[in-house]
Amino acid sequence: MIQIKDLHKSYKMGSNSLHVLKGINFNVEEGELVSIMGSSGSGKSTLLNILGMLDEADEGSYTLDGVPIKNLNERVAAKYRNKFLGFIFQSFNLINYKSALDNVALPLYYQKMPRKERMDRAFHYLEKVGLAEWSHHLPSELSGGQKQRVAIARALASDPKVLLADEPTGALDSKTSHEVMELIQGINDEGKTILIVTHEPDIAQMTKRIVNLKDGIIIDDHKVEQIRASQYV
Ligand code: ADP
Ligand code: MG
Repeated sequence: MIQIKDLHKSYKMGSNSLHVLKGINFNVEEGELVSIMGSSGSGKSTLLNILGMLDEADEGSYTLDGVPIKNLNERVAAKYRNKFLGFIFQSFNLINYKSALDNVALPLYYQKMPRKERMDRAFHYLEKVGLAEWSHHLPSELSGGQKQRVAIARALASDPKVLLADEPTGALDSKTSHEVMELIQGINDEGKTILIVTHEPDIAQMTKRIVNLKDGIIIDDHKVEQIRASQYV
């Protein structure tokens, strides 16, 4: 689903340049649930933004579901983003004056889906995340966990190939974080490919594979079963 080779990224600041990604290589197969772990500033969001086509690498290659992602004009990039990718953010990024249902339906409106179809679909996904009774509530009337569920429904509504989540539990308490991760695990069980950025080891342990980033390189990449198993050796 995802192939990246020798990815480099620097941020230019005046005459200085900060080399953030220093040759990243990894592949993600369809149906994987992967966490990208690392301390603050290690380049996790930079990597996720490139994978999400929100930013471009300076060097290296990125292939998404067989499509090389390079030098696309914004119209084509937007088309691929809509078709391939769903985003989940730490701060939920919901629209405050729209109901839960309208928040989920909004991306479908931009994709020009007819009203009846997009409302049915939005409701279906709200139901899936356990919020059918909350569909007409505003974000301000929902708890943090519920807001993130709305955001997850919104990300799923376009049926993207890949879900990308940047610190999806970063604004939630530990119990709610685990509930949101259980929801994400359930979505992965249905076959969705999911990448999660986190700096919390507990959260990473709830995925199937952990890619460890340090100072812009991958220092470790392992299946989660393997560490669980090794605890008994
Ligand atoms: P993480 O998500 O792991 O905390 P980031 O990818 O956000 O790390 O950032 C990696 C480094 O790049 C940090 O030192 C950060 O300050 C810097 N950085 C991130 N975004 C920008 C930007 N748009 N311009 C300049 N520097 C940036
Ligand atoms: Mg970050």
